[in-house]
Amino acid sequence: MRIDAALDWAVNVLAGGDSPSIDAKVLLAHTLNTSLTYLFTWPEKMVPDASLAQFKSLVAQRKEGLPVAYLTGQKDFWTLTLNTSPHTLIPRPDTEVLVEQVLACIASEYASKTLTICDLGTGTGAIALALAVELPQHSVRGVDFLDEAVCLATENAKANNITNVSFTKSDWFEGLVNEKFNVIVSNPPYIEASSSYLHEGDVKFEPRTALTSGADGLDDIRKIIAYAPDFLHAGGLLAFEHGFNQAEAVHALLVKRGFVRVRSHKDFGGNDRVTLGFWETCD
Ligand code: GLN
Repeated sequence: MRIDAALDWAVNVLAGGDSPSIDAKVLLAHTLNTSLTYLFTWPEKMVPDASLAQFKSLVAQRKEGLPVAYLTGQKDFWTLTLNTSPHTLIPRPDTEVLVEQVLACIASEYASKTLTICDLGTGTGAIALALAVELPQHSVRGVDFLDEAVCLATENAKANNITNVSFTKSDWFEGLVNEKFNVIVSNPPYIEASSSYLHEGDVKFEPRTALTSGADGLDDIRKIIAYAPDFLHAGGLLAFEHGFNQAEAVHALLVKRGFVRVRSHKDFGGNDRVTLGFWETCD
C-alpha cells in the first residue's frame, strides 16, 4: 500500500477520535522511522508489508483509545523529543507556558547569578530538561517519588545530551535534606478527585498519582507551598502549573504563606494556568 493510501485508511478508522489526521501521520512516521515531512514529500512510496502490519496494529490500539505518546513512546516538548512511559504524565503544550514564565523571571530577576533550579514531580523530566537546555550556565535538579520517573528523566537527559541536570528520588521535598534552590518549579497533580475529566480521552490511561490531588485538587500544591520557603534562598522563585479554575486559590495560598509579587499567567487557551511568587525573607 502507498503512504497516502495507508494514511487515508487510518484516518478513516480513527474518524470520530480527537485528532485522526495527525495521529495517523505520527503513527506512520513512527512505524517507518521517518519524519512527517517525508510522508508529505513521498506520498506515492510503498509501505513495506511488515511495516503496514505494525502500523495497522498501532492504529487499532489508538482506536481503542491508547495515547499516541504511549504507542510511539515519544512526545515532543519545547525543543526536545522525550521518551514517555505509562508511569508518567505525557508532557502537554500548556506546560511550556510555565517554562516560558520561569525563563522570563530568571532573565529579569537574576541576570548574572549562577542558579540552582528544582523541578518537583518531574515525570519525564520535561520542565527540568527544557530549563536546563535554555540555561546551560545554571544547574537543574528534577525530583520524583517514582524510581521509574527518575530513570526515564535521566534517560531523556542523555538522549538530548543535556548535562547540567540531574534527577533524584524524592517525594516532594522529603529527599532534599538541607538543600536550597533559587527557583522551585512544579507541575504537580491538581485535578479534583471526582472530576469526570479523569475518565476522558488520553487522560484515562495516565497515572492517577500524576493527575489528582484530593477533593479540590490542591492537596499537593498546599503541601509544596507550606514547605517551599525552607528550600528557597532569599529572593527565590516558586512557580506552579495549576488547573484552569485554581489561580485565585493558589494566589491566596502563596500570599498567606508570605510570598510576594504573586501573579498568574494564561495558557494557550486563555485560562490562568501558571501562578508564581517570590520569597523575599532572608535565609
Ligand atoms: N494539565 C493536565 C491536564 O489538563 C493535568 C496535569 C496535572 O494534573 N498536572 O490533563
